[in-house]
This record gives sequence, C-alpha cells and structure tokens, in this order.
Amino acid sequence: MTIAFDNSWVRDLPGTYLSASPAPAPAPRLLAFNSRLAEGLGLDAAALREEAAEMFSGNRLPEGAEPVAQAYAGHQFGGFSPQLGDGRALLLGEVLDPAGRRWDIQLKGSGRTPFSRRGDGKAAVGPMLREYVMGEAMAALGIPTTRALAVVATGAPVLREVELPGAVLARVAASHIRVGTFQFFAARGDQAQVRRLADYTIARHYPDAAGADNPYLALFDQVIGAQARLIAQWMGVGFIHGVMNTDNMALSGETIDYGPCAFMEGYAPGTVFSSIDHGGRYAYANQPLILGWNLARLAEALLPLFDADQDRAVDRANVALEGIAGRYRAEWVAVMRAKLGLAGAEAGDGALADDLLAAMEGQGADWTLTFRRLAGAVGGDAGGLAPLFADAGGLRAWLPRWQARLAPDAAARIRAANPAVIARNHKVEEALAAATAGDLAPFEALVAAVSEPFVEREAYMLPAPQGFGRHVTYCGT
Ligand code: AMP
Ligand code: MG
Ligand code: MG
Repeated sequence: MTIAFDNSWVRDLPGTYLSASPAPAPAPRLLAFNSRLAEGLGLDAAALREEAAEMFSGNRLPEGAEPVAQAYAGHQFGGFSPQLGDGRALLLGEVLDPAGRRWDIQLKGSGRTPFSRRGDGKAAVGPMLREYVMGEAMAALGIPTTRALAVVATGAPVLREVELPGAVLARVAASHIRVGTFQFFAARGDQAQVRRLADYTIARHYPDAAGADNPYLALFDQVIGAQARLIAQWMGVGFIHGVMNTDNMALSGETIDYGPCAFMEGYAPGTVFSSIDHGGRYAYANQPLILGWNLARLAEALLPLFDADQDRAVDRANVALEGIAGRYRAEWVAVMRAKLGLAGAEAGDGALADDLLAAMEGQGADWTLTFRRLAGAVGGDAGGLAPLFADAGGLRAWLPRWQARLAPDAAARIRAANPAVIARNHKVEEALAAATAGDLAPFEALVAAVSEPFVEREAYMLPAPQGFGRHVTYCGT
C-alpha cells in the first residue's frame, strides 16, 4: 500500500516546522477506520485498513511521508503564548484527492516533538475516539471539519490523573494553517515568513484572492467569510467548540482541534461544558464575539501586508473588522431561515428567529428537538413542542407569527435542515467508557447514528436522562 504524498508545506515553507519521528507503539491495534473518507481521498480503503495499525501508530510510516511538527503561537483564553506548535502531532504529508484537492494527513498523539514543552506528546483512547465521533457528526451535518481517518490503540499507557490506554489519531484536514501560525512569525517580526505563509494560504485555499487589487486584504476578507459561515453553522446545531483559542482557528474555515467540545441540549446562551473555561469565555453565545476577536488577532499579524503605509493598513483592517458582526448576522439569519422553513427572505426574519430563542430561554427547551419538532407544528398543532418547554406561553405567542411566514413545503424543509440526531453527551460518554473498557460496539453504533443525522433513531434522539447531571468535558487528555 503506497500513498502518493505531495508535501508542499515541507517543500515551500522551510523554517515553519521541525522534523520529528513518531514514538514506537508496542502493540498497535486498529480501533476505528474511516473507509468512506479513505475512498474519498482516492486511496485503496481495504488495503489501507490492513496496514493502518502499523502505519498510523507511527511504527511503519508510508513511503513518502515526511513527518514534521508545525510551528504556531496562539492566544489561549486571551493570553498570548509566542510558542505552542505541534506538541503531540506530526504532519505526515499531503495527498491530492481525485478532484485535485489537497489534504493534510496528520498523526495526533504520536509522542514528543520539539514543541512538546512539558507534555508527553501522547493521547488517550477516549479523547481520540471522541474526536472521531464529533468530526463525523459535524461532517454529516454539512459543517466544514477535519475528520478522523483512523484511531489506533498503541498498547502503551498514558499517565493522566489515572493511567489510560494510549492512542494515535490519524486526521485529515484541508490544512493545519491556524491564526496562530501567522502569529508565530509576526511576533518574531519575521515579515518575510508571514508573507510566504499568506501566499501559500492564498494558493491553497483562496486562489481568486491572488488576482485582487490587494491580495492580502482579499485573503483576509475571504477568511472572514469562511469563518463567519462556520460559526453560524455551529450556532445552528448548538455546537460549542470549547477552546476557541487562536491556535485552534483554521484559515481554511474548517472546525479543528476537537477537545472539550459538545452539543448543547437545553437552550441556554451561557452554556459551557469545558472544565477549564471558568469565565465562560467560550460559552455558546460568545462564539460569534470570539470570531471577531480572533480575526482581529489575524489582522494584526497580517497588517504589514495590507499596505506599505501602516496608518492606511490599520484603516483597511478596521473597515474589514467592523464588517464582521454584520456578515456573521447575515450568515446566522440564513441558517435560521432554513431551520425555520421560511419562504423567501424578509427583513423581519432575524427578529423572528431571535424571538423563538427568547421564548426557549429559561424553559429547558432542547435545542435539537425543538427545531426538529417544528415540522409537526406547521399546521398549527403545538402538541409535540409544548412538552419541551417548562412554560410554553412564549412559544404559543410566537407560533402564529412563524406560521404566517412558512414556505409551502415547510415541514419537509424543516426535517431536511434540522437533525434528529446529534452526538449527545450521555451517548458519547457511554460509548467512550465502553471503548476504553474494550467494547467498541456502542462507539460503532454511535458513529453510524451521527453519520445519518436526519434519520430518526429514537435511542439517539432523547436528551440526557435526569441523573446525568451537568455535563463537564476535559481537554488535554
Ligand atoms: P490544544 O489545547 O490541545 O489545542 O493544545 C494546545 C497546545 O498544547 C498545543 O501546542 C499542543 O500541541 C500542546 N499539547 C496538548 N497536549 C499535549 C501533550 N500531551 N503533550 C505535548 N503537547 C501537548
Ligand atoms: Mg489545538
Ligand atoms: Mg491539540
């Protein structure tokens, strides 16, 4: 089995990475393999599966792989770290799919690198399978995301609060270019490298920007568009990333670095799942604000490229940054129009969506089920919806306004726009606990369910049982 690598990053961007080798795995065992993704890349999935345990544990890298740890910096919870980098990941190389699109193949959890600082470079089975499930759920919902190609148990333990079985994740991404990648070189005053990175990003992701009057401003403008769309899509499905640090925001517009992320159940704007997000910086409703904050950090890194005159460069950046809120709002209203099954577009649609959220707030209304069950309320019967609300008074006042705006085929549209199945926290926890104990069946069933999110599978549709308590997620494991 050979993989035809074409490693443009290593070739074109010396100085942005350091070579490193994966740690050997004593007893690699394939836990999960994504045949459909492999086929999409144009790889021989059956042959790859045979070799995946040895290959993706890092024991026997495919020919042509050139493993490197990529440099990046980042604002973590608002504070700047000038040097983060791939501390537990290695880019193996890039492949071109049959349509000519370029994809990174990266190992995560493959051992120490020059960027590991005090970390062990490793990952545990549970969190790597978690990244697999969440990525598949997002992909099936039509949301840009990195995806897992395979998860391999290494046979070596990793030491956290307790000893856990170790694993390596092989992931596929449009690229691993982060806001923090630019920040790393900008912070060192290496403008030549910032420019090379920007040129590379334009060529790889936004080739039409190359023909613009100001290609770097056009790049920034297109990244704003991609990220505004992405966050609007997250909000539509109740996704909370949990660690929107600038090192976890990809220029490609893909969701990246699944750590303590989770899907919200009962609608509450302040929802936080991550154990380390004490201040609620990355709470559900803050995500659109962090979008703007992170993009302002990107603008700072790109500033010297926007204009030779720095005052003019700042003015240009500010114009772009001031547009973000409006662009995000337009993306969000478009997402909500689809979710609500509205006919056409009218000026009051955003307010109509806002008012449904106001009616849901404080009522414990499950985000996913509320929108899904709107399909049954198209004809005026609120019977399926009302039990989701502690007090359905606000909902009942809202329904007639909504019914007046419906598209003729609203019920079908609503079912096509609103998933029945998301990766619910209690199902994810149940699957990961079983997998860590050696039983992969619940994990496989969960992946199957989240991969067809518009198919109603009762067992995956219900909110967490009463006893599940407040859900907390952890990262760095
Ligand atoms: P994350 O919060 O997972 O996106 O990671 C933030 C930074 O910490 C990145 O530079 C990671 O490479 C690094 N990191 C996270 N976990 C480990 C680990 N176990 N060993 C070494 N570096 C790590
Ligand atoms: Mg990260
Ligand atoms: Mg990470």
